[in-house]
Amino acid sequence: MKDIIQVDTYFDGDEYFSEGPYFIIITEESIEAIVAKKEVSDSFLLHTNINLIKAAFAMPGLAEGHAHLFLAGEELDFKKRSSYLKSDLSTFIEVGKENLRKSLESGITLVRDAGDIHGVNTILRNGSNGSLPRVRSAGKALRKKGRYGSFMGVEVESNEDFTTVIEDLAVNADELKILLTGIIDFERGEVKGVPQFELNELKQISTVCKKLNIRNFVHCSGKDGLELAIDVGINSIEHGFFMEEQMLTRMCDKNMEWVPTFSPLHFQLENPKLAGWNQQSQDAIRAILDNHYKMVGKAGEIGLHVIPGSDAGSYGVEHGKALLQEIVHLVKAGLPLLQVLHNATILVRKKWDYPLNHIRKGSKESFVLMDKDPFTAIQNIYSKKSIILGSPKPALAIL
Ligand SMILES: [Zn+2]
Repeated sequence: MKDIIQVDTYFDGDEYFSEGPYFIIITEESIEAIVAKKEVSDSFLLHTNINLIKAAFAMPGLAEGHAHLFLAGEELDFKKRSSYLKSDLSTFIEVGKENLRKSLESGITLVRDAGDIHGVNTILRNGSNGSLPRVRSAGKALRKKGRYGSFMGVEVESNEDFTTVIEDLAVNADELKILLTGIIDFERGEVKGVPQFELNELKQISTVCKKLNIRNFVHCSGKDGLELAIDVGINSIEHGFFMEEQMLTRMCDKNMEWVPTFSPLHFQLENPKLAGWNQQSQDAIRAILDNHYKMVGKAGEIGLHVIPGSDAGSYGVEHGKALLQEIVHLVKAGLPLLQVLHNATILVRKKWDYPLNHIRKGSKESFVLMDKDPFTAIQNIYSKKSIILGSPKPALAIL
């Protein structure tokens, strides 16, 4: 008995194949072969003892580049959101599991969690036992005493030796998150306060990470913080609002990457009444987003690696669906869909050291089937999905 998946078109992780139909032949171990219908005789499907599944389109499982699994983005009541933060660990874990389920439903097979102070992301990673999605965890973040990020980061003091703190954090984390700046003051249209760390401090953090051989990334927006992160050559800048063109070139030279997280700000702009934004704040948000679209477009042109990540769990940003929205934002910014999907599948796995998930002969990785092809119309990215599970649970298991 063989499972054969018939698709009209597919994206293998690098290339788009549009001259189908194609048959993806699956054995218990892996993809045995992919053949175009025109290459086989009409009796091909009659000859073998097969289980045929049809879909419009197939692509490798997506990676969500920036999420907070312990938070539910769809909770819009501010009071409920802040009282939820006082919940017990088991509640956080249950919410996290539900968010993972939602992610899988949207075709996500790897979630990079950008950290929480309870270490829920690490617990979810360790407890997954090979089930999907896999979790990449940032554990607990690093922040300066009294500064932004109490729900994400442990505190360090100025002039402290950060080595042992980072060593401790690294035990439970796949990479180190640094809270470099605060949040944006929308009424003033700028980032609140000065960066949390000074140049020599950030250099020290980066040096310790290199010694421990773990990657690092910064929560960072605004000129001062961005300049610092680029000077030091932090691996990834997350959010990065108020980006400037000269910074993009420098990031490219230093082989850095950018996770622009359009979704939270986009939600605020679409729903100004929920957060109570006046006209001035709405104008400021629009201006910030306009610059963001422009800079992401430029980043694509110069070949800077832009990683899709939605900041799911933030206000109004729902796990799963938000990554698909983020993909649409990146395409709107001018990045080709092929590039965006490549970055969300193959590129991140290369960078983060996970098995590559091309849809190719020999692959044992999970992939996604869809009812419609996003290459014919970007809105199709939201079409219904099912997952073909790879090893360690081989062969067909559809959601
Ligand atoms: Zn975040």
